[in-house]
Amino acid sequence: EKRNPNETEFLQAVEEVISSIGKVLKKHPEYHQLKILERLAEPERLISFRVNWVDDEGNVQVNRGYRVQMNSALGPYKGGLRFHPSVNQSILKFLAFEQVFKNALTGLPLGGGKGGSDFNPKEKSDQEIMRFCQAFMSELYRHIGHFTDVPAGDIGVGSREIGYLFGAYKKLQNEFTGVLTGKGPKWGGSPIRPEATGYGLVYFAENMMASNGESLEGKTCIVSGAGNVAQYAVEKLIQLGAKPVTMSDSSGFIYDEEGIDEEKLEHIMYIKNVSRGRIKEYTEKYSKAKYTETDSSKDFKPIWETKADCAFPCATQNEVKVKDAKNLKKNGIKLLAEGANMPTMADAIDVLQEAKILYAPGKACNAGGVAVSGLEMTQNRMGVYWTKDEVDEKLKNIMKRIHDDCRKTIEEYELNSHDYLEAANIFGFLKVADAMKAQGIV
Ligand code: NDP
Repeated sequence: EKRNPNETEFLQAVEEVISSIGKVLKKHPEYHQLKILERLAEPERLISFRVNWVDDEGNVQVNRGYRVQMNSALGPYKGGLRFHPSVNQSILKFLAFEQVFKNALTGLPLGGGKGGSDFNPKEKSDQEIMRFCQAFMSELYRHIGHFTDVPAGDIGVGSREIGYLFGAYKKLQNEFTGVLTGKGPKWGGSPIRPEATGYGLVYFAENMMASNGESLEGKTCIVSGAGNVAQYAVEKLIQLGAKPVTMSDSSGFIYDEEGIDEEKLEHIMYIKNVSRGRIKEYTEKYSKAKYTETDSSKDFKPIWETKADCAFPCATQNEVKVKDAKNLKKNGIKLLAEGANMPTMADAIDVLQEAKILYAPGKACNAGGVAVSGLEMTQNRMGVYWTKDEVDEKLKNIMKRIHDDCRKTIEEYELNSHDYLEAANIFGFLKVADAMKAQGIV
């Protein structure tokens, strides 16, 4: 805490890992001597830079850009870029720290990093977005490279932004390499990358249900968010015969008792990706659905009061608070799997654990996105494109492997059998710690 004052989110993420790995340190005292945890909690490099750009009115704007290069024990730094006014050093350090473990869990050669800016892309014109991306890359390009650091998208950075960032990098470096992932399918992108996090989340949840002798078929599901992760989670849930009934954005959420089907999802994708509107507009077309406005004065979120079997928070960090977890428990929820990064607060996780609700942390169940990014890097280096089916099959296998590795760890360390959190932390930690030990004190 003394070392990282006011970095609440980062401290929360580190504490969560520390509280999980006591048993490992007992078994491997050498990690303690080698100060692996202390080294893991200190970014290898943290870059903060000024981003100047000119808006459509001709005014000069100043934002702050970051890249946190957290750990490269397993491969080049890898992790998304977030453009959101809430971005600060603490949030990016927490995300980069989580990313190290998540990437380790995929079994691919990926280190961990994260970056972004406090730039708010909302209500900006396309030209402004392009100018901002070019200005951002005019500094970032010197710190990244396909063997060094390979950023991707995150909140506020979708395929449009990746395109502008990639174009700027190519111009500045005069090279066409896989320096960013999430590229367009015709210029180096991998099939299934847009779908990967949402699909992977649902594949993971299906494995969790199977290990409990059940399946997702016929299950009513709460999904929060209406962005990339939420949209494809809903798509896969529909494909597997589940019934998603909610989606949200920061203004509010919709509840459709009849379930969101493929046609309705297509409309949501149009609202969010094409007309860049608000989730509220859903009720203009589907009038039976109910819209509830966000009320930030409440200490709970009504979306989590929805009666359902499974919950998939896919919007942002700390969106499930202790009261929400109690509401989920009261309504008999069976499973909560995190599409977003750290959406469930620590005391809310305690409620889920005590209630023996199947719970998977984002670092395990939302790793599908970075896994397919890893596959995009491989395709770029090989100069090939795999087919959609090939990549989907690999994604499915990776999610199953992460799930099974967690289950093995649960058995080996005699952990709570409903809880994948400690298992994911232990498994990820061991992978990175072993590599750091082998590579010496550098
Ligand atoms: P998007 O920007 O596509 O969507 C984010 C969604 O969350 C939007 O609906 C947004 O609503 C909502 N949201 C954002 N901030 C808040 C807030 N403070 N309160 C309420 N709602 C909010 O992002 P992604 O779908 O890509 O990412 C969602 C989460 O998943 C993030 O935690 C991200 O780190 C994580 N993640 C993403 C991966 C990916 O591949 N994209 C991979 C792994 C994790 P609004 O439009 O109103 O802002």
